[in-house]
Amino acid sequence: AAKAAGKRQWRRFQPQQRIRMVRRHDLQLRLDTAIARHEFDLRYQPVVDIRAGEVVGFEALARWPRLGQDAVPPGQFIPLAEETGRISALGAWVLRNSTADIARLQRRVPGLRLPYLSVNVSARQWRDNGFLNEVCRAVESAGLAPHTLQLELTESVLMQRTPQIDALLRALKDLGVSIAVDDFGTGFSSLRYLRDFPIDVLKIDKSFIDEIPSDPQQVALVEGIVHLADTLGLQVIAEGIEKPEQQRLLADIGCRFGQGFLFARPLTVEQSEAVLHHRNGARPKPQG
Ligand code: C2E
Ligand code: MG
Ligand code: MG
Ligand code: MG
Repeated sequence: AAKAAGKRQWRRFQPQQRIRMVRRHDLQLRLDTAIARHEFDLRYQPVVDIRAGEVVGFEALARWPRLGQDAVPPGQFIPLAEETGRISALGAWVLRNSTADIARLQRRVPGLRLPYLSVNVSARQWRDNGFLNEVCRAVESAGLAPHTLQLELTESVLMQRTPQIDALLRALKDLGVSIAVDDFGTGFSSLRYLRDFPIDVLKIDKSFIDEIPSDPQQVALVEGIVHLADTLGLQVIAEGIEKPEQQRLLADIGCRFGQGFLFARPLTVEQSEAVLHHRNGARPKPQG
């Protein structure tokens, strides 16, 4: 009986699994086509000075809009593109287009401080031989000052540390490009890399921010990260700020920068320009 039940279960499971595999394969084919045809959009989420509210930069986020269907979220298509290796082509497209967009934006809103561009770079791209060249070409043809470009990596890249990656990071540093650790705190890497690598920024993962200020342990953790960053001379960005009480607490513990729906969602270039005018245009004098 047990055997029969097991068999039935196996039969019930199998078609669903096959459907999933077919769907996945179908999505993969569509993704390949979309990458070949550059059928993507970019959105830009402002990074703000938590106290002053000013925009200091924009993070480029890829979107895959599909005719007549819901857009596929990057959490789905980025991992897929990573598996097939197509992320390199997609990443190159993101780099070229985001540098062009933000360089244009910088020219349209001249100010004291140019908003920077932050680009997500997959582990795979960090291992590509042509990556440094790609960055140079993108920056050059866009006319973007390299010191206004930031590249994001995850802890996994630092864990698989190789001489090539060391050299790449240093070459980028020499160019003036800054390096941010994305989703900081979710990986398993040792803290040594913060000392050994030329890193400039820690982006505290949203999962830590979600639980503040209600969970005192999370508050202590975030505070610890902020102090660690201060000690090492790194900047900190809190990701996924949604509530005013999170903003207040982060300001209190000295976390200078943040991103989140509380300030702005990922925006089109036009909306980004409007936000710049709105938040950075009129500078009211601080009171007192
Ligand atoms: P990420 O780099 O950690 O980006 C932050 C994600 O959190 C974005 O999701 C953003 O829309 C979302 N977010 C920001 N503030 C809030 C908030 O207050 N509440 C909530 N619920 N979410 C918030 P998105 O755009 O869906 O991107 C997901 C991930 O996909 C990114 O995480 C990044 O790892 C990856 N990704 C996106 N674009 C690219 C790309 O061009 N290249 C690569 N390699 N990865 C990308
Ligand atoms: Mg990111
Ligand atoms: Mg992140
Ligand atoms: Mg994240």
